[in-house]
Amino acid sequence: MKVVLKNYVKGKPKETDMEALTTATIPMKVPETSYEAAMVVKNLYLSCDPYMRFLMTKHDEAPEFSYLSDFVPGEAIRSYGVCKVIDSTYPNFKAGDYVWGITGWEEYSLITNPEIFIKINHPELPLSYYTGILGMAGFTAYLGFHEVASPKKGEYVYVSAAAGAVGQLVGQFAKLMGCYVVGSAGSDEKVEMLKSKFGFDDAFNYKKETNLSLALKRLFPQGIDIYFENVGGAMLDAVLANMRVRGRIAVCGMISQYNLDNPEPVYNMMIVTPKRIRVEGFFVFDHFPRYETFEKMAVSYIKENKITYVEDIVEGLENAPGALIGLYEGRNVGKQVVVVSRE
Ligand code: NDP
Repeated sequence: MKVVLKNYVKGKPKETDMEALTTATIPMKVPETSYEAAMVVKNLYLSCDPYMRFLMTKHDEAPEFSYLSDFVPGEAIRSYGVCKVIDSTYPNFKAGDYVWGITGWEEYSLITNPEIFIKINHPELPLSYYTGILGMAGFTAYLGFHEVASPKKGEYVYVSAAAGAVGQLVGQFAKLMGCYVVGSAGSDEKVEMLKSKFGFDDAFNYKKETNLSLALKRLFPQGIDIYFENVGGAMLDAVLANMRVRGRIAVCGMISQYNLDNPEPVYNMMIVTPKRIRVEGFFVFDHFPRYETFEKMAVSYIKENKITYVEDIVEGLENAPGALIGLYEGRNVGKQVVVVSRE
C-alpha cells in the first residue's frame, strides 16, 4: 500500500486529497543497475508535520520553499520516518540498522539518497522518538529556543501551539533553564497537560479568549521576553503588543496561515523598533551537521527523566491522511506519529 496525493491542493487540505492505493511489493534488494548507492528500507514510523502542507501545492514561483520538493500526485507522499534497513549499497548503513530520514508513505521504500539519513544510535529508546523528540521536532525546539531566542534564567517565555511536537519541548527546555513559561493550546485537555505533565507555570486555551492581547497581559503583567512563534496571525499581533524591551521572537512557523490564500496582516510590527525586539526565523534543515550535539543532550534528558514526551499514535498507513489533516485542526495531542509496522 502507498498513500498518494491525488491532486495539488488549494486552501485547506482534506483527507480526500490523499488516497491509499494497493501496490505491488518492491524488490527487497537494491537493483544492481541504476544507483551509485541506495537502500531498501522497511518503514516503521512516519512523522506528520505542518510543513507538509507546502508540498501539497505546486511551487514553481516560491523558491524559498524549495528545501524540499513538492509532492508528485500519484507518487507516495514523503515525510520524515524511522526505517529498518533491509538492503544497502551505501557503506554507512547495513541490513538491520535503524535509520531516520525522508521516506515514502508506503511499507517499503527504495531510497536513492541514503546520505540524508541518520543512523539511530539509541534503539533502546522508543524508535518513534526519532520522528519527534530525537528527530526533526526536537532539534527544531532546541535550535529555536537555545540558539535563536538566547534565553537567560528568570526570563518570561511564551510558547504557542505548546501542546504539539515542538512546543511541549520548548516549554520544558525553558523550565530547565529556570525561565517562567506560559503556553497556549486549543483545548482544555491540552491546557491541563501543559501544566500537569510538562510543568508549564501557566497555560490558556486561546480559543476561549475574546481578546488575545488582554489574555497575554493577564498572564504576563510584566511583559514577554521570549516568544516561540508557532502560529502567526492574530496571535503574533497580540504578542507584539506585550513584548518587553530587547525581547526575542523565534519564528519557528505560522501554522494558522498555511491554508490561507492571503496571509493575515500583522499590525503591531511598528513596536519592534522602539522596543529593540529581535525577530528571527530559522529552518532546522540548515543545521543538521550539528544534530549529534543535540541528540546527546536530548538522550541524556530522557534517560535522566528530566524531559517527558507525549506522542499521538495512529495505527496504519490508511489512517495517515486523517492524521496529517488533524494537525491543521488541532486534533493531535502531542507529536503526531503514524505506525506502519512496529518492527
Ligand atoms: P504540532 O504538533 O504543534 O501540530 C500543529 C498544532 O498547531 C495543532 O495541534 C494545533 O494545536 C495548532 N494549530 C493548528 N491550526 C492552528 C491555527 N489556525 N491557529 C492556532 N493554532 C493552530 O506541530 P509541530 O510542533 O510539528 O509544529 C509547530 C510549528 O513549528 C509549526 O508552525 C511548524 O510549521 C513549525 N516547524 C518549523 C520548523 C522549522 O525548521 N522552522 C521545523 C518543524 C516545525 P492547538 O490545539 O493548540 O490549536
